[in-house]
Amino acid sequence: MPIYLDHAATTPVCPQAAQAAYQAMTEGFGNPSARYALGQEAAARVRDWRAVIAEKLGCLPEELTFLSCGTEGDNWAIRAAAEHGRRTGRHIITTAIEHAAVLEPVKALAAQGYEVTYLKPDKTGHISVDDLKAALRPDTILVSMMLVNNELGTLQPVAQAAQAIRASGSPALLHCDAVQGFLKVPFTPRELGVDLLTLSGHKIRAPKGIGVQYIRKGLRLKPLLLGGGQEEGLRSGTEPTAQIAALAAACEAWEENTAARIREIKEYALTALARVPGLEVVSPGDAPHICAVALPGYPSEMLVRDLSDRGICVSSGSACHKGKPSHVFAALGLPKRTLMGVLRVSFGPDSTKTEADALTEALIQITQSRIAMR
Ligand code: PLP
Repeated sequence: MPIYLDHAATTPVCPQAAQAAYQAMTEGFGNPSARYALGQEAAARVRDWRAVIAEKLGCLPEELTFLSCGTEGDNWAIRAAAEHGRRTGRHIITTAIEHAAVLEPVKALAAQGYEVTYLKPDKTGHISVDDLKAALRPDTILVSMMLVNNELGTLQPVAQAAQAIRASGSPALLHCDAVQGFLKVPFTPRELGVDLLTLSGHKIRAPKGIGVQYIRKGLRLKPLLLGGGQEEGLRSGTEPTAQIAALAAACEAWEENTAARIREIKEYALTALARVPGLEVVSPGDAPHICAVALPGYPSEMLVRDLSDRGICVSSGSACHKGKPSHVFAALGLPKRTLMGVLRVSFGPDSTKTEADALTEALIQITQSRIAMR
């Protein structure tokens, strides 16, 4: 097995989640809409699993809608919020460092005539609430701000954003992409004061193919999919019972101290990585699991390949698309050599200090065997 240090990209499914999915696919395979006992049992299980996830998130079960992934949730939140505010205005505020799952639907709305303000981060990757306050207008209908940035690990001021929106009297809905924050940093949607919040299962050791949308009780949104009326008519389609079962199991398997354990490994790794000649910490990350480092003069894609040859998985992935630096690192205004040599390293519950040492040693070897570009 390779050394896997890319948990922000996806995570290995934990045994509890795999087992729960297996059971749901074999013994409990009924369609929750079916009236006979096998179907009704599946429906009851879905209710139980929804309650487990709601408890972990700190909200009401009926505030959760199951989806296929975080991208689906982000897209829906943005389109539905625009529809919700169509009589009020056409101004949207988001940040320059959102995931493409937010930026692309916002871009699509801009093409339809919506006006978009992109809040820029400071050099450390944090968005300022004062900038948000200055950008809010009476016709702002949506603010979309992520909780934890997926490339920098920085925590964004979502709760303060909610206060600012309310204090200004703005009618804007607040959406939060919490895909990288769920279970990693403590929050509830109510504490954050958000109207909409998006999660994805495969970042917390559930399988790919399951996402969750939190919709504040009382907020009525246009359905995402029409059909059989599942998910209170908001997102029709037969419930993916195996994925929901697995997500609930992954939530239950995530212990009180799991995030603290992950943070300890990341901090150990950052100390170890300081031994790599020339290595710079681009973002230590506020969240426990993500940090970004750079080896100026060594292109990210080459580093990722060299590390892969040594059995280590880290990402330039989000960091560098087809030789172009990501919009997130570009937004920090890093010098070009640093920008082109960025690596995102992200840890999970099973990460170890030995793995952090192996990454350090591999990077030292690479710097010794390759000459840095000017
Ligand atoms: N938002 C953030 C911050 C992410 O990191 C990701 C995935 O990397 C997504 C959204 C998209 O989630 P999914 O892969 O479940 O579509």
